[in-house]
Amino acid sequence: MKTRLLTANEIDTAAGILRSGGLVGIPTETVYGLGANGLDPAAVGRIFTAKGRPQDNPLILHIPDASWLDRYCRNIPPAACALAEAVWPGPLTMILQRRENVPNAVTCGLGTVGIRCPGHPLALAVIRAAGLPVAAPSGNLSGRPSPTCARHMLEDMDGRIDAILDGGSCGVGVESTIVDLTPPVPRLLRPGGLPLERLQAVLGEVAVDRAVTAQLGSGEKPRAPGMKYRHYAPKAPVVVVTGESLRTARYIRRNLGQRTGVICFDEYAPLFSGCTVEAIGPVSDKARQARRVFEALRAFDSTDVDAIYAQCPGSGGLGFAVANRLKKAAGFQVVDLGEAEE
Ligand code: AMP
Ligand code: MG
Repeated sequence: MKTRLLTANEIDTAAGILRSGGLVGIPTETVYGLGANGLDPAAVGRIFTAKGRPQDNPLILHIPDASWLDRYCRNIPPAACALAEAVWPGPLTMILQRRENVPNAVTCGLGTVGIRCPGHPLALAVIRAAGLPVAAPSGNLSGRPSPTCARHMLEDMDGRIDAILDGGSCGVGVESTIVDLTPPVPRLLRPGGLPLERLQAVLGEVAVDRAVTAQLGSGEKPRAPGMKYRHYAPKAPVVVVTGESLRTARYIRRNLGQRTGVICFDEYAPLFSGCTVEAIGPVSDKARQARRVFEALRAFDSTDVDAIYAQCPGSGGLGFAVANRLKKAAGFQVVDLGEAEE
């Protein structure tokens, strides 16, 4: 299959491919998604094949506005409406009870569905033009860092999908925040582009699932099926170093090997001259770190580094999502030197 690169004025072509059961890479504000008609089990099945995605890891259904919630979800709690009103279109996925018309292929047989209204004009235009809910996970090969530009998606998906709609670089850079609204106390299943503090401002108490902060034991059943898989990982093993940034930089410098790669804050890049360095932004600019983190992880695969150390931001705001992606890429191999500055 030849993968076409579509420009922003080819929305109708992208929508036509979706309507006829094909696969299209779609830019969103978080990362590029791999979209298919979310009501067509065969099309949804092709997503799993193209990504090499485990069959028990469900997909998110993307809708053009909150009025579509009722078509695919039931027993919608007032909290869902309040959140949709406050943050959609935007980087938040809600887990709600599903209706029967949502194919098992999307939910992997769960009684719930993940649903989101993306905040990117091209994503919304394609969904509206197709007139369908679009099922889409991130557009990477399973286990690889998520793509934040069309070129990264093409690296993984060339020859595997029909087209990619090029919308430039993603503004947020980490995937959506996932909150499960089916238990009495809402539960954060994945920190992401919407800070936890924003969720708490609307919902009050939010529980944080254990799988967000630690590796699950082999016998443990995750609440979000995707949580149990190794994620976002470059080929070389990653070690994350947490703590105040000057301390973590010094620790990494002391432990450098011949072919160690480093992910660091901009201020510390000069300490690592001679190494393969990916500077992900200033210590205080977590939005920039979020935009850069996947690109940085991906960049090492075209180098000969055999180990990667990463400085890690504090967990306030977008730092929670950046730290989570780094720790998942590291399989939770963390050297803990204390609290990071916020
Ligand atoms: P991706 O966009 O590649 O990160 O994949 C979608 C994420 O949403 C995965 O982590 C899934 O486990 C999660 N997800 C989708 N639907 C559900 C659901 N019904 N319950 C819990 N998690 C879900
Ligand atoms: Mg993904």
